[in-house]
Amino acid sequence: MKIKLPFLIILFFTLVSFQLHAQWQRQWTWGGALDPLQSTFKVTHYALDLKIDLENGVLDGSATLSLQKLAEVEILRLQLIDTYEVIKVVADQREYAFKHDGEYLDIEMEGAFPDKITIYYKGKTPVASNPPWVGGFTWEKDDNGNHWVGLSAQNEGGKLFMPCLDHPSNKPENGAEIKITVPKPYTVASNGKLLDTSASETDTTFHWSTDYPIMNYNINFTIGKFFLHEQEFFSSSGEEVSLQVYVLGENQDKAALLASVLENSIKTHENYFGSYPFPEDKVAVVETPYLGMEHQTINGYGNNFQFVRMGEVWYDWLLHHELGHEWFGNKLSVGDWADFWIHEGITTYGDWLFYDHHGGIEAYHEKVADTKRNILNEKPVAGKIATPADKAYHIDVYYKGAYIMHSLRHLLGEEVFFRMLKELASHPPFIYENQANTEEVIRFIQGYTEYPLQGFFQWYLYETELPEVRIKKMGKRGYEVSLPNIDFSLPVEIVTERGNEKVDLSAKPKLIESSSEPKVDPQDWYLFSKRP
Ligand SMILES: [Zn+2]
Repeated sequence: MKIKLPFLIILFFTLVSFQLHAQWQRQWTWGGALDPLQSTFKVTHYALDLKIDLENGVLDGSATLSLQKLAEVEILRLQLIDTYEVIKVVADQREYAFKHDGEYLDIEMEGAFPDKITIYYKGKTPVASNPPWVGGFTWEKDDNGNHWVGLSAQNEGGKLFMPCLDHPSNKPENGAEIKITVPKPYTVASNGKLLDTSASETDTTFHWSTDYPIMNYNINFTIGKFFLHEQEFFSSSGEEVSLQVYVLGENQDKAALLASVLENSIKTHENYFGSYPFPEDKVAVVETPYLGMEHQTINGYGNNFQFVRMGEVWYDWLLHHELGHEWFGNKLSVGDWADFWIHEGITTYGDWLFYDHHGGIEAYHEKVADTKRNILNEKPVAGKIATPADKAYHIDVYYKGAYIMHSLRHLLGEEVFFRMLKELASHPPFIYENQANTEEVIRFIQGYTEYPLQGFFQWYLYETELPEVRIKKMGKRGYEVSLPNIDFSLPVEIVTERGNEKVDLSAKPKLIESSSEPKVDPQDWYLFSKRP
């Protein structure tokens, strides 16, 4: 297949990046056990008002946090990395005492608990050492010598750029407002809708806002001398959505094609995951000086327009992957990085479905086989409860996570699986202001079949060992087939001279009447450790 070689190259670089990532010194992470001082309140909205000094990499401004009290609060504990200096903390026209030590910003609460609190801060922005895997700010120049600034914080959290309750379980339910002032003629691309821009003689202020719940690491902005291509997209819901593509000036002639690649990817995702989740805002990509990230309604795109042909359409794996996160990651989010695979595994499965949809089922199976070679089985896909991002993030969260979805497709059957997938992406208890965890997702999927799935999930999500296939010749009677090391059963396809059949295999050997050795799971629907 034409796309195979470029894809292997991409996979190779992806792997190199993953391995490199381990060597980079990581300074910050987020998640893990929630600090008891942060269980007494939550943040429901962030409003940033920042001025960016592009020459010196300095940020100066304020963040106003809308707060909701859950219990008595004596210390309001936020996080903000200490490359920034906190100037003052103000609520209801009075200043609050605070201590900024390391990444903790502890504000002393006295009197009535404020609905909103404003933190004035400024300082040098942290430079990303290996974005987006080790995040921070990326200070780059485009080919014409203009500033080009990216921000990525998936593994570190919002404290790299704003004071916040930096825990994945606090997904601000009323969204965020991002007001950024930059010198002329630069543009700021950010989340949600552009409410307005205002200009002084030297600067422009871009005022973005979203009412949708949004995770801290998705609150984002990219600065550059951008060309904006805008068109309308009709979602499967019938809504008209603004589709926007921000590219560097030198790539202006590629913007229309990028927009059509984006539109095709949205339609493909809608086919499997349901209608686009953020129609009130926009669907957009911005060219970033790093590979990419699923920043809600403004996906980072740094894949250099490397489109490949698939069937009748153009495909950009990076663009498609980040866009898939609008459903799994942004609409349906996890509150604990132990469940990272729900973001990455299901989104990666969405990448494979592009092959199915546009390249055909053989292209899909080839893609699955290619990816399978990179599964390591060294760490469980699902982490222990309260795992921080740096401990939860590894390659099997992506590839083995996706393979689990692939196996479920076989287990549940086509019709049920695809119905389940679409309903998972729109299940009210899991989406927008709500969040999902692994056990809840397992229960949800179990609701679609009578076949007991506990053993399947226990092995594939929580263990690193894989079921083993054993075939034993039983004279003229045929062959005994078993999965000797497991304590559950799997419906497995077996091919003999009589044709295909689905057989429940377990540790108990099953006699398959056949004159030649039967082929067990010839299409590789499952990960098995040993195959004859
Ligand atoms: Zn991803």
